[in-house]
Amino acid sequence: MSLDEVLVACAEAAITFGRGTQAVVAVHGANLEIGSGDRLAVVGPSGSGKSSLLHLLAGLEQPTSGTVRRAASLGPYDIGLVFQGDSLIPALNVVENAALPLILAGRPEQEARQAALAALALVDAADLADRLPEEISGGQAQRAAAARVLAQGPRLILADEPTGRLDHASGTRVLDALLAAADRTGAALVVTTHDPAVAARLTVQRSMRDGRLLEPEETS
Ligand code: ADP
Ligand code: MG
Repeated sequence: MSLDEVLVACAEAAITFGRGTQAVVAVHGANLEIGSGDRLAVVGPSGSGKSSLLHLLAGLEQPTSGTVRRAASLGPYDIGLVFQGDSLIPALNVVENAALPLILAGRPEQEARQAALAALALVDAADLADRLPEEISGGQAQRAAAARVLAQGPRLILADEPTGRLDHASGTRVLDALLAAADRTGAALVVTTHDPAVAARLTVQRSMRDGRLLEPEETS
């Protein structure tokens, strides 16, 4: 694998939700390449299409037009998405949630649990391990969701407003952990945010406005 391998490439990729007069263009023809080791912030206000773009990159949404191509070497467990909203499985406690991608990928249960606990510790959430999602706050759930992706160790980390429900100190901790994981493994990291201070911690910033991913020179 070359260091600058392209992991995912969008060409004029668009998503339209609904039809006719109800149609909402969430993403207008976006052009974007993510290579291993890239650190990209996608910055824009609420409703500008950040989550939709991330879902396109993850393969959760198919483009209505245009293309999204992923490297053939990129398997399903090589992509980790920290969802913006609630994503923990209610019947599993926090450590079981964090271990789940590894279990599903076939790793032994003890090993998966250890990796999950280590990842929870990185975001100061080890003490939540035995709690159910209904027993923790929104911010704690967001940290647990980040830990799930950190435990998984993907080659493409997509984090959707990972600090949105966190106070400054916790947000910094989560961002530190995501950046450190990407540095350690060479993974690509894409973070959406409306916070310029968060965006500034990534190497490249791209803005979204009304579904349009602006070219770098349009982004200020
Ligand atoms: P952001 O993450 O920047 O807040 P989103 O990608 O969530 O933006 O949303 C972009 C636009 O697409 C918004 O107008 C939103 O209402 C619309 N949208 C997002 N998801 C759906 C959906 N599943 N069905 C219909 N409209 C949607
Ligand atoms: Mg969003």
